Amino acid sequence: MKTPHRPVPVVSRRNFLGRLSLGAAALALAPRWRAAESAPAKKLGVVLVGLGKYSTGQLGPALKVTKNCRLVGVVTGSRDKGMAWAKEHGFPETNIYDYDTMPRMADNPDIDVVYVVTPNGLHARHAIAAAKAGKHVISEKPMANTVAECDTMLAACRAAKVKLSVGYRLHFDPYHQTMMRLATDPACGPFLKMQGDRAFQLAAGAWRADKKLAGGGPMMDLGIYLIQGACMAYYGFPKLGGGLEAAPVAVTAKELPKTKPQQFGAGVEEGINFSLEFANGAVCQAHTAYVQPSADTFRAEGGKGWIEFKEHAFTYRGMVVETNRGPLHFDPPVNQQALQMDDFAQCVREGRESRVPGEMGRRDLVIIEAVYEAARTGRRVAVKV
Ligand code: NAD
Repeated sequence: MKTPHRPVPVVSRRNFLGRLSLGAAALALAPRWRAAESAPAKKLGVVLVGLGKYSTGQLGPALKVTKNCRLVGVVTGSRDKGMAWAKEHGFPETNIYDYDTMPRMADNPDIDVVYVVTPNGLHARHAIAAAKAGKHVISEKPMANTVAECDTMLAACRAAKVKLSVGYRLHFDPYHQTMMRLATDPACGPFLKMQGDRAFQLAAGAWRADKKLAGGGPMMDLGIYLIQGACMAYYGFPKLGGGLEAAPVAVTAKELPKTKPQQFGAGVEEGINFSLEFANGAVCQAHTAYVQPSADTFRAEGGKGWIEFKEHAFTYRGMVVETNRGPLHFDPPVNQQALQMDDFAQCVREGRESRVPGEMGRRDLVIIEAVYEAARTGRRVAVKV
């Protein structure tokens, strides 16, 4: 599915949307999607749990440009790493915690939000520790290894009266927002035929091939983006409540034969093909794998129009996107992570629901479990969110 790169003209958001000839009211980003743009007086304090690649490469830098929140501490197994972060981000050494001292965060009024960025199988433990300390929680994707774990996280946050959100940054990305808008534009959508491919070569020894820490193989890590893409393309902007109405009604799946059984053991697929069927007859055909050259594409097609993410469909930048009405290019690029965290901070501040709440994270685990069941049994499996 990989296509050769070719330059696309730079189009401002206004010009592109104008070209799509949608009505001005429909075009304008709805006010609630723009909430992150108004800066409150006091920034909320965020703590990152786990200082691996995503925290170091994306979230830490994003927290230097957020308007509504700032980094005030870390949870890490390495004191030295914590000291380096404290120095770089200007927070006190007393705000460096380890995984066992997380309950002490309850006594720290600087901390409002705890962002869990550890391996998938640890999200539930760390999110629950944060909720018990009275802090609002963001969990990275996938929300947990299983639906049952998601339920424990939701229950803990409900009991502590704190908010729970998932790091679904693409809901804050203008390309994906355009896809959601076109999905419900009668001049383009509904999108009935979707196709996606997300793959990379996983290095040997990575926790992402460890069943206990990862919950499965590429379906958990990469396939979840295709689920997200398909739900966005099917439904458009989800209503509040976790986008349950955007879920497929049934799935089929086939696990691909293992070429590296020494790397991908029991319960960890190396690659999988799956299809998602929606209530209106829309279908998404998807493929994800850990053993082929990189792929990161998505296409959604309706009776009157289409949108195609030719490169970097689900990554942070460098998306190459075309539509039946021409190329799509937003300039300057946004910082998805900063927008996502700022919006959550704003939700906490205003006491309103996140557009990417824990319920959406749970929804996606329900779909993933159905895909695994379909692959295991060879049957079409109904999805009940
Ligand atoms: P990573 O391996 O680079 O970092 C994981 C961190 O967790 C490390 O600091 C590690 O020391 C710590 N950790 C704590 N206990 C551990 C244990 N028992 N075993 C292994 N590590 C342990 O991983 P990453 O790429 O930063 O991913 C972390 C999470 O973020 C994952 O859930 C992943 O799916 C998610 N993620 C999301 C995005 C996104 O775009 N939203 C991108 C990358 C990763």
